[in-house]
Amino acid sequence: MNTSFFVSLDKKALYHNIEYLREYKQKELLPVLKANAYGHDILLIAKALYDYDVKVWAVARYSEAVSICEYFKTFSIDDFKILIFESLIDDYSLLEKYPQICPTLNSIKDLKNALANNISIDRLSLKIDFGFGRNGIKAEEVDELKNLIKYNSLKFLSIFSHLFSASYTDGLEIIKKFTDLVNMLGRNNFEMVHLQNAAGIYNYDVDIVTHIRTGMLTYGLQEAGFYDLDMKPVFTGLIGYVDSVRYVNELDYVAYQELSSIDPGTKKIAKIKIGYGDGFSKANNKTTCLIKKKEYVISQVTMDNTFIEVDDRVNVGDEVHLYHRPNEIKTKTGFSMLELLIAISPLRVKRIFKGEEN
Ligand SMILES: *Cc1c(COP(=O)(O)O)cnc(C)c1O
Repeated sequence: MNTSFFVSLDKKALYHNIEYLREYKQKELLPVLKANAYGHDILLIAKALYDYDVKVWAVARYSEAVSICEYFKTFSIDDFKILIFESLIDDYSLLEKYPQICPTLNSIKDLKNALANNISIDRLSLKIDFGFGRNGIKAEEVDELKNLIKYNSLKFLSIFSHLFSASYTDGLEIIKKFTDLVNMLGRNNFEMVHLQNAAGIYNYDVDIVTHIRTGMLTYGLQEAGFYDLDMKPVFTGLIGYVDSVRYVNELDYVAYQELSSIDPGTKKIAKIKIGYGDGFSKANNKTTCLIKKKEYVISQVTMDNTFIEVDDRVNVGDEVHLYHRPNEIKTKTGFSMLELLIAISPLRVKRIFKGEEN
């Protein structure tokens, strides 16, 4: 049998989160698909969103947008948009090749370059920086920006900023500045207006925005410092099967050096075919996994295999759940579930929607 591990995903949870967020904030959702859709598989998630009629997404890098565009070509689908947080790059041929790619203008210089190169402005977004680092058009450049917009009658895909909030009142201040700025530049010159990511969504209501912009909440991942009981996790487990079960002394015989740290009472060791080469970190040593509703200790993670201390209940072919307590993983490994999920190798570990063959 095939004992490879796979990431199990729940498509209904994804759609539930979309409906829930729309209802909760009374805004449209701009799902963030960067970092392999937070480890969920960028292509699988993009297609599932498209099928649900959510057709505008955001990513961080050009390479992420290009991989989605190439994938959708295989379905002959072209009616979608991908907002990229990165600036317009000099390689304008990429924009011709992929009409769906919608880069961001992070400076006045970016805007002037776009105008000089005849890039259609209605596919571009303005990023405003309110002085909290990162990138974006600075407050002192706003007058020049306003003149450029007026003189050239510019219409943009969107305007946005990052709602950095060192404190609750700082956030309110940014919301006010952002709202005033959008009105000053002309609300109707922007198809979309967006400001909040996950924390901002929980902390604030913002009238002027059309969209909330989040990855965490799309996937039902809990944001540090908040807990939302109404969200459903799209990630439902890293699942595989017991590949072999051996007596410890047998293993000693074949000289598995890695097994030196086994609990002395353990008689049997199960091997599963996943290791740090698959992105299953050694930080998982001494955590537990789940086999037939019982928790067993993970003894050692090696590059290709992991060894589990088991008993006679456990047989070859039994289903093994890793990361079965996602909300407790941080205290056990030092890493958040998000970090661990992103680390799972896209090359070696398939993501699969539960109940679908793909
Ligand atoms: C990553 C990112 C987001 C998504 O943030 P979440 O915390 O996942 O909601 C939103 N906006 C920008 C600019 C980002 O880089």
